[in-house]
Amino acid sequence: MDLILKNARLADRPGEELLDIAVDHGRIAAIGRDLAGEAREQYDAGGRLVCGGLVETHIHLDKSRIAGRCPPPEGRRVNPVTMTAPLKKDFTVEDVRQRAEATLRECLVNGTTRMRTQLEIDPAVELRSFEAVRSLARDYSWAIDLEICVFPQDGMTNYPGTEELLVAALKQGAPVLGAAPRYDSDPAAQIERVFALAREFDVDLDLHLDVGDDPKQMHIYQVLDLTERYNRGGRVVAGHMAKLSLLPPAEVAALARRLADAGIAVTVLPATDLYLMGRERDHGVVRGVADANLLAANGVTCSLSSNNVLNAATPFGDCNLVRMANLHANVVQIASPEELRALFGMLTDRSARLLNLKDYGLAVGNPADLVVIDAETPEQAIAEIRPPLAVWKRGRRTVVRHLPELLDTA
Ligand SMILES: [Zn+2]
Repeated sequence: MDLILKNARLADRPGEELLDIAVDHGRIAAIGRDLAGEAREQYDAGGRLVCGGLVETHIHLDKSRIAGRCPPPEGRRVNPVTMTAPLKKDFTVEDVRQRAEATLRECLVNGTTRMRTQLEIDPAVELRSFEAVRSLARDYSWAIDLEICVFPQDGMTNYPGTEELLVAALKQGAPVLGAAPRYDSDPAAQIERVFALAREFDVDLDLHLDVGDDPKQMHIYQVLDLTERYNRGGRVVAGHMAKLSLLPPAEVAALARRLADAGIAVTVLPATDLYLMGRERDHGVVRGVADANLLAANGVTCSLSSNNVLNAATPFGDCNLVRMANLHANVVQIASPEELRALFGMLTDRSARLLNLKDYGLAVGNPADLVVIDAETPEQAIAEIRPPLAVWKRGRRTVVRHLPELLDTA
């Protein structure tokens, strides 16, 4: 056997007694009490929380770590896209690879074992970021399953050559197509086009959607319509949905039920939305973060993710998903154990569902992607931002972390 993990408090059944997990040939072979046998590694979790590897559903590895290259914002208005676009012609494969790798390694030490990264393709950067991140995915397959979503950040219908490059990436096997209609001169045409391409290449869709200050102008209704028309239910994700924070809860709940019925999932990206929303005001600034719990309570498959790290759209970030959930709880002002537990699911099981992963979680037969977190319950992990202490990918240890110790010299 690869591993026997003793005395685990399973995150998906935290009220139950402590259990052991046995791993053989990279997969969970048994979950039960007093498991024994010869194993390459024995680990005593000592009653700590054990969950499936954390799932990062939306991050931009390719443009992470460029905050220092961006011009400083002038005044309160910030347009991260126009701040970044001029830099992209100078992105080399090596440069993207180096920055993406540094960010990926931060994600790994924070317990992430599966990831979907957004990746920009256009005539300025061509396929260089795609090449860089694909090589990264190959080289780090021992630690993470990394899936690429290609998308046009700087517009598609107004940027000749972009669609051809996206098609080239899809032909080379990119499994997911994204969009950023807000930055297209014809947002509705971009959305229509990516749905047509998704059908043509039979790929999932993961769209940046509905950021801004006017909730009367929302593209989600067009996406609802197209999801039905193109029969893409279960294969469409809307990222951000920040405008939902500007609507009364009853309206959000009604829309959420429509999304759930249509099979459209939502990724909430608290860090970027907090940084960018409400900049038209200089006081009483809106928080601009969609309430993931409210969406989930109305049936939507939701995840929480990091999005931008150290760039013009979010000049912060440590790739710690547990901290992201804590941030979300602060912003939407929730604190009950049930709500915090639901947020933990949006870093694990629910995120896996959003990415259509069929082999995720603490069940016999699944790949043994496991994390021990220094907490007793999911809600404690989020309330106190408790760290992961050990991580396994397919039963092989990838991360060890030690808690800081106080040198008590009194
Ligand atoms: Zn994004």
